[in-house]
Amino acid sequence: MSLKKIIAGTAAAVIACGALALPATAATFTYTDTSATLSTNSASASNAKTPVQIKSIAFSKVSSNKIKLVWSDAKDAQIKLYSLQRYNESAGSWQTLVTKTSDGIAGNKKYVYTDTLSSSSPQQYRYRVCVNVSNTNKYEAVNGVSRFASNIKVCLDPGHFQSKNGGTYGYSEAKAMLSVANNLQTYLKAGGIDVYMTRTNDNITLGGYTNQDDGNQLNARGHAARSNNCDVFISLHTNANSENANGCDTIHQPSTLNKTVVFVNKTAYNQSSGVVVNMANRMGYNITAKNKELGIPTCSWLSARPTMYRLPSYGTDEFDVYNETLRKKGKIVFRTLTSGEDYYAVLRAAASDGVPGILIEHSFHTVPAYCKAFMNDPDVAKHYALSDARSIGGAYGFKVLKSI
Ligand SMILES: [Zn+2]
Repeated sequence: MSLKKIIAGTAAAVIACGALALPATAATFTYTDTSATLSTNSASASNAKTPVQIKSIAFSKVSSNKIKLVWSDAKDAQIKLYSLQRYNESAGSWQTLVTKTSDGIAGNKKYVYTDTLSSSSPQQYRYRVCVNVSNTNKYEAVNGVSRFASNIKVCLDPGHFQSKNGGTYGYSEAKAMLSVANNLQTYLKAGGIDVYMTRTNDNITLGGYTNQDDGNQLNARGHAARSNNCDVFISLHTNANSENANGCDTIHQPSTLNKTVVFVNKTAYNQSSGVVVNMANRMGYNITAKNKELGIPTCSWLSARPTMYRLPSYGTDEFDVYNETLRKKGKIVFRTLTSGEDYYAVLRAAASDGVPGILIEHSFHTVPAYCKAFMNDPDVAKHYALSDARSIGGAYGFKVLKSI
């Protein structure tokens, strides 16, 4: 199914483009079919106008209150004027932000506009570009396809690199989390959330380091959030039932236990708005529920009631990580060193830049049933990504994807 169809809110009725309003026949217009079997009415076919529509707009976060919109000039020869519009939810109408005049020459520029918002609070909008055609006898303007954009940007950190942290059935944490991250990026962008990824393939080069698991590379991952103007840092992982696996002491858990664990860093913990703690809660809750839905074994208590509990009720001491036992219900942990700094290097680096961060252990790759489920069904990566996307967007109150 296309992304366009699965975003809540995109099914809104077509709204005319103000001064660029379409003729009444536009709603029933269909693209010209050149197949011989449909060319029975040659007179009609020869009179058909070519539809002209802007189908895509790229966006990026410029600053906390500025969103950059960019679209192609590929149809300049058919277009006289462009109108970039933003949907006003309270007014229930599209409003023109800017008009741009076509030079009639395709391929010599991009159209760019930076939308300045009235505040820096998280905001999600729908944008579209409508047009006036250059020759109304030959072309017919069609409302542009709308897309979401916002002033929020997320740093995704697919944990590890290459084929690190193998499980059974050919599973690798590094490869699996890259797959989740790539899907997550797609879903977030569809919801208008900008994304920076610390790696986009099996290898990672960051801060002058390539494919290293040491502190330098881990710090570089965490620092990438601030240097790329991101609002939150999110590190994606699966866990292991062995001592100090990923710095996480799990020796007291039965090897069959599969459990989602979410950590937040000091900045998130102290964030007055609570947005990122709320996000972490959602991520833990939704992935736990998704594991259950997918038939991936979980702790019996969680299966019965996948409820997340808010900080600060649970551990802040590295020797008493409450979520590592079956006795406690907490699934979000603010885990620190005795110095009071964040335990995980990536979260510590993000916090040192004042960026709230999350590290999520979606499942345990030491549980064969999990590895089997993930490797046998490519949709598991998409389900995880959609679950995380809904958690992230939901924390900001944004419209998000409904399903895959
Ligand atoms: Zn990991």
